[in-house]
Amino acid sequence: MRRAGHVVHEALELVRGLVKPGATTLDLEKAAEARIKELGAKPAFKGYHGFPCVLCTSVNSEVVHGIPSATRVLKEGDIVSIDCGAIVDGYYGDAAITVPVGENIHPDTARLLRVTEASLHAGIAAVRPGATLGDVGSAVQGVVEAEGFSVVRDFVGHGIGVHMHEDPQVPNFGEAGRGMKLRAGMVIAIEPMVNAGKPDVLVLDDGWTAVATDGSMSAHFEHTVAVTANGATILTE
Ligand code: MG
Ligand code: MG
Repeated sequence: MRRAGHVVHEALELVRGLVKPGATTLDLEKAAEARIKELGAKPAFKGYHGFPCVLCTSVNSEVVHGIPSATRVLKEGDIVSIDCGAIVDGYYGDAAITVPVGENIHPDTARLLRVTEASLHAGIAAVRPGATLGDVGSAVQGVVEAEGFSVVRDFVGHGIGVHMHEDPQVPNFGEAGRGMKLRAGMVIAIEPMVNAGKPDVLVLDDGWTAVATDGSMSAHFEHTVAVTANGATILTE
């Protein structure tokens, strides 16, 4: 799983460097697909329940599951969430980043990115044997709501291993002390999806793209995290 996580990290860091005004989300897709192949891995998303691409690319108010397209041209001030999965010898890695396009991102949007990434790391910091999924979710939620943003409820993190999505579900909200206890050896994907406005989302007619119903900006960060004897190890960095 560390090897799969490494491939995901490599693909995301390559693609991060390609995000600029004028690039299309299909440019990102092609680069990621080539890199995953070059590293001897298989993409995890392409063909998953019929999803057509190796990346999910979700721009601005798109929350998750956006489909890369030659007609989706990134412009100054946009943000794009890039979600990637890879398989090595049957084991899965899954991670996501949200990247600003150009240098002139709105300060509130920059804050949304900072807070969403910080909420992911607060969730990871809560991971240790004996901690509960409620401890993780409440840590994420606390960081997000302290800044006046909303945690998306309709999508959650997940266990991961020999399938991309395994039990348990890992919500980005909850009550400390509640829910399943973590044990060393478990691996979970923690992935806060955070809207600048209300938490509600709807899925577009393409059957995939989830967008913030109120049109507000939305960010998404994810790591695959192993529970270890002492705490947690991030497998996708
Ligand atoms: Mg993902
Ligand atoms: Mg995931």
